[in-house]
Amino acid sequence: MIWNAMPAVLSFWASICSFCLGWKSDVLFDTESYDSIVLKSRSNHSGFCERKTKVTSMDLWSMAAEDVLDDLPVDPIRANYVRRVKNCIFSVAYPTPLTSNIQLVSISEDVLENVLDLDISAVKEDDFLQFVSGRKTILGSVPLAHRYGGHQFGVWAGQLGDGRAHLVGTYINRFGERWELQLKGSGKTPYSRDGDGRAVLRSSIREFLCSEAMHYLGIPTSRAASLVASDDPVWRDQFYNGSLRKEKGAVVLRVAKSWFRIGSLEILTHSGEFELLRRLVDFIIREHFPTINATDPNRVLEFFTQVVFQTANLIALWMSVGFAHGVCNTDNFSLLSITIDYGPFGFMENYDIDYVPNTSDDEGRYKIGNQANIGMFNLNKLRLALNPLMDGRQKQLALQVLESFPDLYYQRFKELFSAKLGFLGETEQDLIIIASFLSLLEDSKTDFTMAFRQLGEITEEELQSLLIPQEHWALHAISHHRDFPEWVNTYLQRLKRNPDDTDYKRRQRMASTNPRYVLRNWMAESAIRKAEMNNFSEVRTLQKILRQPFRKQKIAEMAGYSQQTPAWAKHLKVSCSS
Ligand code: AMP
Ligand code: MG
Repeated sequence: MIWNAMPAVLSFWASICSFCLGWKSDVLFDTESYDSIVLKSRSNHSGFCERKTKVTSMDLWSMAAEDVLDDLPVDPIRANYVRRVKNCIFSVAYPTPLTSNIQLVSISEDVLENVLDLDISAVKEDDFLQFVSGRKTILGSVPLAHRYGGHQFGVWAGQLGDGRAHLVGTYINRFGERWELQLKGSGKTPYSRDGDGRAVLRSSIREFLCSEAMHYLGIPTSRAASLVASDDPVWRDQFYNGSLRKEKGAVVLRVAKSWFRIGSLEILTHSGEFELLRRLVDFIIREHFPTINATDPNRVLEFFTQVVFQTANLIALWMSVGFAHGVCNTDNFSLLSITIDYGPFGFMENYDIDYVPNTSDDEGRYKIGNQANIGMFNLNKLRLALNPLMDGRQKQLALQVLESFPDLYYQRFKELFSAKLGFLGETEQDLIIIASFLSLLEDSKTDFTMAFRQLGEITEEELQSLLIPQEHWALHAISHHRDFPEWVNTYLQRLKRNPDDTDYKRRQRMASTNPRYVLRNWMAESAIRKAEMNNFSEVRTLQKILRQPFRKQKIAEMAGYSQQTPAWAKHLKVSCSS
């Protein structure tokens, strides 16, 4: 049986092997030159470096004096109209504020207090709502839209850019960390193409909840500070079937150490702007890759090596919680290897490597089992974008680094899944035990999240009896599989090889490795339906629960969040429309 199990892991593996490298300001803007704006806004700023405590009023809060504008060129055209932009990294663009019935749906206290140094008292001020809905510019900030390109669904798409997002400042907090603040859904920019620059409430709730949930699952991600809803009408054809519907516009304030993507570099190479490419890569290395010597002639290669390593880590982490991003285009792949741009993502329920969360992805290009493969495709595009900065020998080495991606991914995958099964140390059998467990899940169409969780809740004694209590419903489902007894036997033998372990310790470990709650589509959908009727209670409840995904919580249990998907939600669809 064990050998029959190999396809589950091998299909992850084979998909890799078969891959053939393949944020109006206090400063008036319109009449002044850009430099005078920067100087004015900075001369007022209140000395972020000395800050040791949280800020209790928005009047005392300011953006960093040193930011991207010191190093990177800005589009000389200031008017806000859609255009092809050249020879710069950013365009100055002011948010278009939400206007009608603006409501602060939710905040992340952790992000506000521990990332942005904002005491919760500041959040109650009107200035806060003005800021997070796009109306108020913070001292020290010049809002920008980033110029980037990207490969979408495998094809070079040319200029994309922040078409509905504004970088409203760089903040250096009391811990010395540099964070970039972005409003999403905040109106048109030069990169909006034919879009309206808006984001609807449903997709904003999904991004707000999921990015925070991913953080608490321990997965590198952008974070969300606030979610604002409005009655501003936004028209969307949600399922691309001709039925346009009026939806509510919303804005999320999201933060990341950096929003640069693979597409940020690709666009420069594609348009032959190699000097600018070097400046941007050097900026990213200096700001975000402290272990790389900024004067090392091999720094670009070293940068590429680190991105390859960290991307392998990220995708293995996604797989370990059954997360499918949904749109793994190069413009949605962070150069810091964090999860960004939450769209039609999904958490796999029944184990299925062909799970495609995005109903617009007809070919299943971004199905869960293909993510590592696509990661390598995207890294190859990064390699090609960096080529003009490398000599012949470095290019050759970069290719070798790329070719090491499957091994890096596979190694990380194995480590994470070994931990999910409660293993300590490493034995030659581990991979087969992982693969055969996944195979049992696949055959019995069983819930991925809860099967691992329940395996970590049941005692070895109960497992050995093969009588799995009904409350462990996912594990109970696989217990009818003819190969289950043999798998249990092999698993229990393997647990005996854990050094200095006890069954109690194993269960403790597994409970802190396998989440009990992930943001299943039906949970998000239920909260969204109520939110669209102006009831945001479920959004807040979900946010609270997902802050502790590994801890059994009474309200979550009452809501059925660790139970099987309810019948009404069996055929829920999520499209690209957002
Ligand atoms: P996404 O699929 O959200 O990663 O977006 C891909 C590209 O389309 C990016 O350049 C976005 O800024 C742009 N985009 C998506 N939705 C809109 C919109 N409603 N208005 C303007 N640009 C948009
Ligand atoms: Mg995107």
